[in-house]
Amino acid sequence: MFKINIVKKIVTYFRTSIKVITITTVSAILIVGLVAFFYKPTYAVSLNGELIGYTENKSKLQNEINKYMEGEAEEGIAFRQINSVPEYTLCLLKKDITPNDEEIYAKVTEDGTQYYKYYAITDDGKEKLYVSKFEDAESVIKKLKDKNSQNKNDIGIVEKYDTETKEFTTVEKCVSELYEAPKPKVVYTANASSGYVSGSSSAKVNIGISLIRPISGTITSRFGSRESIRSSPHRGLDIAAPTGTPIKAAAAGTVVSAGYSGSYGNMILISHGNGVQTLYGHCSVLNVSKGQAVSQGQIIGKVGTTGNVTGPHLHLEVRINGVLYNPQNYVY
Ligand SMILES: [Zn+2]
Repeated sequence: MFKINIVKKIVTYFRTSIKVITITTVSAILIVGLVAFFYKPTYAVSLNGELIGYTENKSKLQNEINKYMEGEAEEGIAFRQINSVPEYTLCLLKKDITPNDEEIYAKVTEDGTQYYKYYAITDDGKEKLYVSKFEDAESVIKKLKDKNSQNKNDIGIVEKYDTETKEFTTVEKCVSELYEAPKPKVVYTANASSGYVSGSSSAKVNIGISLIRPISGTITSRFGSRESIRSSPHRGLDIAAPTGTPIKAAAAGTVVSAGYSGSYGNMILISHGNGVQTLYGHCSVLNVSKGQAVSQGQIIGKVGTTGNVTGPHLHLEVRINGVLYNPQNYVY
């Protein structure tokens, strides 16, 4: 009997325990369910440690802030920077709180810095004009090339990021402002006595006299040409003819010098007045001497191979006030 009572008690004890456990578990599930039902997960949002509001949709709010930073809203804006990033803290047990996503967004973005993206068109490395699109900048360069603008190879594009935007110029206006008419090809830069000065093969000044051909022959090198054997543009005109061919004075004048002179070989320099001079190089024979007056057509020397030559020819130069001019503008 006594043993049976103990067993009964033990059984009753366990039954009670199971009931208690079941009730507790069910209650807990109900409570969690109720909390989940009535309290949506809400995030407290703070900026620089200061609470600025609450959101029930953290990812949506953060997405909008991201979009703002990526600068999607406006064309020409590369990106934006915000001073500080919002921090989110999950708060389950707060009741009666109103989410204020719009205010949070406004506060986060109010001190944002905008970075504009645009393109500078440069000439010789200097920024000249600005366009908003890369294609526009490319188009300007292409048009300048098509028009053979003098500066076509100096024009460049630089991608710019700046907190301030620039005034943009239309493609057509860029082209007209940057266009430089092509200069005549500079084929020589030469100063007769020393150094070199700029000149052009087409430059022609009136010398007031007419020159005749000192010899007839084949032109083998023109004024300003840059053959591989030359270290600088050709200072004169080369006319090939057999050694010994007589050379005539191109115009009347006075012999300034007649003698051997470096790469010219035997050369004669005649002054015709008004700053006009003619020079005859590579002669085999000199028939005149310094100070001598010569008439137009007078034989002054003979074709040869003295000085820097690859074959017999006359090297003819025309100098006006010390500047070299293309002899073919005056003779041949
Ligand atoms: Zn020559």
